[in-house]
Amino acid sequence: SRSVMNGFSHGSQSKQPHFVLVPLMAQGHTIPMIDMAHLLANHGALVTFVTTPLNASRIESIIQHAKDSQLPIQFLPLPFNCAKAGLPEGSENLDNLRTGLQEFTAFMEVCFLNKDPLISYLREHKTPPSCVISDVTQPWTGEVARVFGIPRLVFMPISAFTSLCGDITSLHKIYDNVPDENEPVPIPGFPHPLEVPKNQSILSFSAPGFEKIGAKMIEENSKSVGVIVSSFQELESLYVDSYEKFLEKKVWAIGPMCLQNKDLKQMASRGNKASIDEERCLNWLDSMQNASVLFVNFGSLARSVPLQLMEIGLGLEASRKPFIWVIKAGDKMPEIEQWLIEEKFEERVKDRCLIIRGWAPQVMILSHRAIGGFLTHCGWNSTIESICNSVPMITWPHFGDQFLNEIFIVDVLKIGVRIGVDKSIVWGSENSDEVMVRRDDVERKVLELMDEEEGLQRRVRARELGDKAKKAMEEGGSSYKNIELLIQLVQERMLSKDYEK
Ligand code: UDP
Repeated sequence: SRSVMNGFSHGSQSKQPHFVLVPLMAQGHTIPMIDMAHLLANHGALVTFVTTPLNASRIESIIQHAKDSQLPIQFLPLPFNCAKAGLPEGSENLDNLRTGLQEFTAFMEVCFLNKDPLISYLREHKTPPSCVISDVTQPWTGEVARVFGIPRLVFMPISAFTSLCGDITSLHKIYDNVPDENEPVPIPGFPHPLEVPKNQSILSFSAPGFEKIGAKMIEENSKSVGVIVSSFQELESLYVDSYEKFLEKKVWAIGPMCLQNKDLKQMASRGNKASIDEERCLNWLDSMQNASVLFVNFGSLARSVPLQLMEIGLGLEASRKPFIWVIKAGDKMPEIEQWLIEEKFEERVKDRCLIIRGWAPQVMILSHRAIGGFLTHCGWNSTIESICNSVPMITWPHFGDQFLNEIFIVDVLKIGVRIGVDKSIVWGSENSDEVMVRRDDVERKVLELMDEEEGLQRRVRARELGDKAKKAMEEGGSSYKNIELLIQLVQERMLSKDYEK
């Protein structure tokens, strides 16, 4: 419609570059890319953001906000043909996959079907595309870029530290001759000694039948002109530089992108509609002392079994610290509700606890002065959101890149304490009898993190990093400059018609 196209109409004759953004439909991947779309648009570029009908409906208020602000972002919902890969209708986001990793490969196959519809759409668009930025898991977009003779940039929704370690792991197949999954294996060529056992590596998120797609990913990523990491230079310059050398191509750190959400409404509606009224949440936080509240949330994918949730709750209760605890819709089993209500957990802690059932306005919460700690699963977005807001962490990795993020948080940045898990969970095949962490350990770690004296150095470092994060995104900061430079580069390529690498 005209209103949707509004932002494009005045730019069609100009040299405004047109970025096509293709995320992986998973909260941890789409959320930062939506931020990226806003950043590029705020810096003067046109953006087409590929989504699906169901995902678009979840971010309705963000789409509306972009329209109302006349931002040149167009959200393009392409059909997601679940049935073609034998997936149940509505499996349009990783957090909808009932069996987790079991359905991952089929999900990825559906993503590949978007290639032709996207090409047809772009052919008809009055402003030709000038650059594709797509998630590392979406290699089919390489072909889209070639059809239009434009560059593709790969988006890594993680840090350079973890990207480098992960890429070395796959390149050198370091676990091939190591039968024991718990044996620490050195990461060759890493800028300093680092050993990681297989079950704490990125391979802990390997899906059955994924080999072909995995190989395609590696092949297409090597053809890309550069890589964008969701990070900032001052946080990890050693790893950004080393990753650049390793890839022999430019690595762009343009984050922390979550900082582009300036107003509370925007913060509160990231990824999904929050399941708690913002006002209620803010009023509760306002009533709490500075840095006194622990925030507990495990991201969009990790699923905690009831026994484990109860141990967490009892540990939090025993710590006597105020807390906000997010229990996801998927975790919201009758057993847990019964325990919360009939066994009176919620009643016992009601004067110092807020339980959020479903989707929490995480960035809004983390940015509140009352938050003093974050018990996190170490998803990279959660990690960087915590860093931006100078909040130290208790690290409880579950799978995938999360153990590497834990090493980065605790050993490199020194702004966290480990809860003490040493092996990953297979996503979607969680063992309902298995408790990874006992209530006593939860209590002990909460007290350790929140302790004023013991935690002082951690808080000082977290404060410094938060300041650096904000500076990076401000005018003249490193990420700000990188975004400008990226747009300029694409513009020059567009002007000179020099699309080749
Ligand atoms: N998130 C949120 N509310 C929730 C759960 C998650 O806003 O209740 C957001 C969170 O702020 C982050 C993203 O969802 O931006 C989760 O990404 P992350 O990389 O931390 O973890 P993943 O979900 O990919 O495991």
